[in-house]
Amino acid sequence: MKVYVDPARCRGHARCISSAPAEFDFLDLEDLAVVRPGAAQSGSPAAFREAARQCPEHAIVIETDEE
Ligand code: SF4
Repeated sequence: MKVYVDPARCRGHARCISSAPAEFDFLDLEDLAVVRPGAAQSGSPAAFREAARQCPEHAIVIETDEE
């Protein structure tokens, strides 16, 4: 699974952080969320899906091996 935040879409709401704090981190200076290093491999797929569902900008991209 590959997960990342599209910086062109992210608006810094931090809803992803609230939803999945172990999977996402917030870059204060850039006002952007990012996937924590290694979290795409070790994090919960369900947590990523829920965070993506809650992102109002559709900025969280999830690519699975089946795609
Ligand atoms: S909820 Fe979406 S737009 Fe808001 S910080 Fe997270 S990824 Fe960015």
